[in-house]
Amino acid sequence: MSADTSRVRDVTETIYTYAAPSLKFGAGSADEVGHDLHTLGATRVLLVTDPGVAATGHPERIAGLVRAAGLEVVVFDRARVEPTDESMIEAVEFARDAMPFDAVLAVGGGSAIDTAKACNLLVTNAGDLMDYVNAPVGRGDDPAHALLPMVAIPTTTGTGSESTTVCVLDVLAQHVKTGISHPRLRPTMAIIDPTLTVSQPAMVTAASGMDILSHALESYTARWYADFDAKQPAQRVPYCGANPIADMWSEKALSLLAGSFRAAVADGSDTGARDQMAMASTFAGMGFGNAGVHIPHANAYPIAGRVRDYVPPGYPEGSPMVPHGMAVSLTAPEAFRFTFEASPERHLHAARLLDPERRVESEVGQGPDLLPRVLSTLMRDIGIPNGLGAVGYGEGDVDDLVEGALKQQRLLATSPRPVREEDLAGVIGASLQHW
Ligand SMILES: [Zn+2]
Repeated sequence: MSADTSRVRDVTETIYTYAAPSLKFGAGSADEVGHDLHTLGATRVLLVTDPGVAATGHPERIAGLVRAAGLEVVVFDRARVEPTDESMIEAVEFARDAMPFDAVLAVGGGSAIDTAKACNLLVTNAGDLMDYVNAPVGRGDDPAHALLPMVAIPTTTGTGSESTTVCVLDVLAQHVKTGISHPRLRPTMAIIDPTLTVSQPAMVTAASGMDILSHALESYTARWYADFDAKQPAQRVPYCGANPIADMWSEKALSLLAGSFRAAVADGSDTGARDQMAMASTFAGMGFGNAGVHIPHANAYPIAGRVRDYVPPGYPEGSPMVPHGMAVSLTAPEAFRFTFEASPERHLHAARLLDPERRVESEVGQGPDLLPRVLSTLMRDIGIPNGLGAVGYGEGDVDDLVEGALKQQRLLATSPRPVREEDLAGVIGASLQHW
C-alpha cells in the first residue's frame, strides 16, 4: 500500500497555491493611496501612466494626493497602450535615470500597470528587458532581487494586471507578443476605485469585459491542478491549473458579469453596473492569477499582433489594433466547443452562471453548443465584431495565426485537452464568423 501511495505522489500533483495582492476596493479608495504608500515605507515614488489616462486628470490628481501625504513623486506618463519592447525600454531608461525610488505606483489600464512592472523589475535588478522576457523570445532569467513595493490603481476594468505576475509586451523585431512572468512581479497592493472607470467608451467596456469573462471561463475550465505532473518546490509556477480556491473567484465573477455586463456597455454612467464589473474584474483576476488561462488567450497573441488596418471604435485613431479583450473573445466560443469534452459539467455550469434564466439553453439544449452560443449571443449584444473576418482576417490567415498561437506553449499547457496544430486550425478556422 505505502509503495503505491508514494508512486502516485511522484506522478500527479497534490498541491496548489494561492497568492494575491492586498486589496482596497470601493468608490473613493484611490484617494487614500498617499496613506497606503506611506504605510509601505515609501518616500519617493515612481508613478507610471499613459497619455490617454493622463488626459483624464486622474494621475495628476492622484500624484497630488501622494505629495500631500509628504512623499515625493516622479511621473512617467508615456507608457504605450499595448506596450512594445521599445516602449518599455524607454520607460525603464527614464526610471533608471530618475532613481532612486522606494515604491512604484501604476495608474491606468493593463498597459500602464505592465510598464510599471517592467520598470520595477529593472530598477531593482541588473540587465536588460530581454534578459527576463519568456524564453525562447528572451532569455527567461529569474530576477535575483526582490522588487519595490508596487501599488496598482486600474482605470480600466478587465486586464487583471493589478493582481497577476505577468507583464505583456510586443517584441517588435520578432513580431511576437509575449511577456515576463514571475511571482516577484505581482503588485503588493491593488486599489480598485470604480469611480475612475466611468469615462470608458462603450467598445472599451465591451472589449475589456470580454477579457474579464475569458479570464473567469478559461481559469474555470483550465486543466485541473492534480492532472499536472508533480513539481518540486522550486518548480512551482504562479499558474497551477483550476483548483478549489480559483474556482470560487471564477464562479462569482461569472455571476457578477451576468448581472451587469450588458448594462455597463449600454450606459457608461450606470454606476451600479460599473461597480459590479469592477468587482468581476478583480474576482476573475484572483482566479486566473492562480489557475491560468489557455486557448483563447494563446490565440489572442497572434490575433492582436498581426493586425493590419482594423481600428476599433472608441480607441485612438490612426493606430490599427485588435484590443486584447476583443482578440481573446474572437476565438473563445469555438475554443470552448473544443474543450467541452474535457469537463462537460464545468462548461454547462459556466454557461448557466452567465445565462441564469437559461434563455439560450432553451434554444440549443445542454450540449457542446451551449457555452459557445451564450458567448456569441453576448458578443453580438454588446457590439463585439462578428469573428476574425470582421477585424480583417480571412481563410488565408488561419495557418499564420495557428503558428503564432503555437508559440504560446506556456498557455496551451493549461488547456484541459492536449492541443495539436490541427485542433487550433479547427478553432481558428471556425472563428471567422460567429453568427
Ligand atoms: Zn486577458
